[in-house]
Amino acid sequence: MTGRILVVDDQPLNVKLLEAKLTSEYYDVLTANGGAAAIRIATEERPDLILLDVMMPDMDGYEVCRVLRDQPATMHIPIVMVTALSDSADRVLGLEAGADDFLTKPVDDLALLSRVRSLLRFKVTFDELRLRCGVAVSAQLEAMAPVWNEPLKDSRILLLEDFASRARMIDEALGEHHRVVVLDDEKIFYAEADHADTDAVIVSLSLESIDGLRVVLQLRSRPQTRMLPILVLVEDGEMERLAKALDLGVTDYVMAPIDRNELIARTRMQVRRKRYQDRLRANLEDSVSMAAIDELTKLHNRRYLSSHFKREFDRSREGDKPLSLIVLDVDHFKKVNDTHGHAVGDEVLVELADRMKKLTRSSDLPARIGGEEFVVVMPETAPEIANTVAERLRDGVANQPFETSRDGLALSITISVGIANMNDQTEDPAELFRLADEALYKAKNGGRNRVVCAA
Ligand code: GH3
Ligand code: MG
Ligand code: MG
Repeated sequence: MTGRILVVDDQPLNVKLLEAKLTSEYYDVLTANGGAAAIRIATEERPDLILLDVMMPDMDGYEVCRVLRDQPATMHIPIVMVTALSDSADRVLGLEAGADDFLTKPVDDLALLSRVRSLLRFKVTFDELRLRCGVAVSAQLEAMAPVWNEPLKDSRILLLEDFASRARMIDEALGEHHRVVVLDDEKIFYAEADHADTDAVIVSLSLESIDGLRVVLQLRSRPQTRMLPILVLVEDGEMERLAKALDLGVTDYVMAPIDRNELIARTRMQVRRKRYQDRLRANLEDSVSMAAIDELTKLHNRRYLSSHFKREFDRSREGDKPLSLIVLDVDHFKKVNDTHGHAVGDEVLVELADRMKKLTRSSDLPARIGGEEFVVVMPETAPEIANTVAERLRDGVANQPFETSRDGLALSITISVGIANMNDQTEDPAELFRLADEALYKAKNGGRNRVVCAA
């Protein structure tokens, strides 16, 4: 996997060293010699990963980290602090500022490359989501910034650890910030991990009777847990097992002896990432459905209809099958609004949409194409059938008053309906629409509450 990595250090030699290591692994490397430059380049170039020195004269790494985390454009870029300080308090400061990891100088090759690979993989997942969310979502990204500061009290963490005293220590450390569920049975663990409210799992790689690596593999291959953050606990010196775990896709690790504050900070970061990812996903689903569904009536909207109708038109033409189009419009709807208010008008539209759904087949496509204008696209429907459906709709509206939420208020509503049927002469979808509209116009002129079929 390739990626663009920004290396930030005020010492040219350190930059050169990291640059050489990363270039030899085929990564593209950008460099910055200070905090301000790092922020500028990160914002302009959007690298996939940032290796960030802590002590720099113009602005320290913590500050840079905070700034990057606050900007929607850079908040999702993984950051690794590279520090000469080995004191755990300083590491925790970095994680608190929003870094995803830290490496100590001189940088160990395995540690560097395994972290880089796993963080890049993670970034790719985010990018895919962000890309699919598209422009509609970029505006909302700003609103998501607080995810980094939100309280996480209701978050749920699973711990798979059979070493009782360590399990107790972790439970106690994290219990203040999360709901922790401690487990030592593999089956129950998977069942619990499937719960939608699980935010992250912690898996010990030194379990007595369970292979932690197999657990990681399982979690990554099951659809319910594929995206779940996994933090593994590794014994000091077990670099090979750690490298394997990172290759399998764990999102982070903590080395024994476990530093309490580091564990807390890393767990918190995983939960935040998960929340951010969930929100992106929800936004994506929203924007996908928003693009196709009418908010008020939950029928398909005009945009969806146009593409769908074009498809159906081509399919009918190719298969030499009939296709009918119904266009309908509420009679004197303006009067409903004027007399009873817009809210009651809306209720009428919702009820009308519900009746349309009930009165058409599942292969028909009812849609709302304007204020009080609806259509039904009917594939494989001959003119006589279309006529029957149109009559059924007209009757289904006129024959039963529309009840409203206003006490005792029920309204008599009628609709006018135009039908057009596709034949060999029909040029394109637009022509069918035009014919149906003309028929509707005739139905209105002919006194409303009636069906007219285009000649
Ligand atoms: P006609 O029988 O000729 O169709 O008369 P009409 O009053 O139904 O037609 P007109 O096109 O003059 O008025 C349509 C009205 O529908 C005007 C507009 O305010 C209202 N309308 C459009 N969209 C909505 C909506 O989403 N909710 C509500 N409550 N009213 C809407
Ligand atoms: Mg109308
Ligand atoms: Mg109208």
